[in-house]
Amino acid sequence: MGRLVMKFGGTSVADIDRIRNVARHVEREVKAGNHVAVVVSAMAGTTNQLIEWCRQAAAVHDAREYDAVVATGEQITAGLLAIVLQDMGIPARSWAGWQIPVETDGVHGSARMTNINGDGLIKRMEQGQVAVITGFQGIAPGGRVSTLGRGGSDTSAVAVAAAISAACDIYTDVDGVYTADPRIVSKAQKLDRISYEEMLEQASLGAKVLQTRSVELAMVYKVPLQVRSSFEPPDLPSQNKPDGTGPGTIVCDEEQIVEQHVVSGIAYSRDEAKVSIRHVKDKPGISAAIFGPLAENDISVDMIVQNVSSDGAFADITFTLARKDLRKAIEVLSAVKDKVGYSELAHSADVAKVSVVGIGMRSHAGVAARMFAALADKGINIQAITTSEIKVSVLIDEAYTELAVRALHQAYGLDKT
Ligand code: ASP
Ligand code: MG
Repeated sequence: MGRLVMKFGGTSVADIDRIRNVARHVEREVKAGNHVAVVVSAMAGTTNQLIEWCRQAAAVHDAREYDAVVATGEQITAGLLAIVLQDMGIPARSWAGWQIPVETDGVHGSARMTNINGDGLIKRMEQGQVAVITGFQGIAPGGRVSTLGRGGSDTSAVAVAAAISAACDIYTDVDGVYTADPRIVSKAQKLDRISYEEMLEQASLGAKVLQTRSVELAMVYKVPLQVRSSFEPPDLPSQNKPDGTGPGTIVCDEEQIVEQHVVSGIAYSRDEAKVSIRHVKDKPGISAAIFGPLAENDISVDMIVQNVSSDGAFADITFTLARKDLRKAIEVLSAVKDKVGYSELAHSADVAKVSVVGIGMRSHAGVAARMFAALADKGINIQAITTSEIKVSVLIDEAYTELAVRALHQAYGLDKT
């Protein structure tokens, strides 16, 4: 019993039948005595359609009007769910972000939340009313509706949970967080628990379960988070296990994880591209001349590798970036050719990034070595490497993505027996 935010993604509310199914999940939690707020996404495909209409209306358009259009998707779902809940005899009311209000900054199209006053929400919830809140949006300083960027409803849900000191269950089309994508690794296992840090790495490395920003927020505000499936039967009374875990995966502090693995997951992303700048002078200022203009054009760079020629005079610099930014990056770098003074600019989009993630790496040696050995064993060449405290990522030929993920899953003992 307590305060609970339940968030349902687009596939979970894709049609009226599914919205009814969602309402039964809500009913179960209300009957268990919880004070419930629900955060909803737009029905599957709706946001894409709305964005496409904006694009057709004018290829370049005002971000405020884009927000006015795309924010409507979530309003439809919120209203429909409130209607279904009322029809089931559960007091419910829909609320758009601006009505709560969810305050954001003025960056239309990818706004960040700045404040949520949860007092009104808490009052209504305590009176037994279910608040159905539109995800993905808020109100900008000038008073206009703003949206948070794709996948933003996860972040809305966590922010609402933080504002009202609630737990947050994120319902989606998978039943939790896996050691690897179960669509490519049949022996992947569902994790009972994963730490915020690991989840953050997984999310930013390409695992699409949660928006990265939502995990950041949950970590900062210590919001108890669970990822679970909306497609499991809604009417089972209590699905919690004796060890305190639920039907899905709990995202929590690492101290709350008893059984720790050195590596908890293998992530991959095909959303990668590689640029090589050949034969530049190896002297101060060259990297700044390359990466400065990229940054000015809002292009984020991920891995960077530099090879210096044997006489020490020249270098080749290779870096990776999101595939969608490749064309722009080539334009930007072509424009600064004389200033940088390279001989050749090469690029490729046939690359993928594969990563191993685990907080156990902090205290165990040999994690990276095992990764390289497992890839070598399959004859997979590593084109670039980056590490952080809890992850090792390699760039490989995209054609070997699945092979690499499976090989690593096995090498770290993650295969289901
Ligand atoms: N409907 C929005 C999107 O598709 C937000 C969300 O679903 O999280 O990006
Ligand atoms: Mg989503």
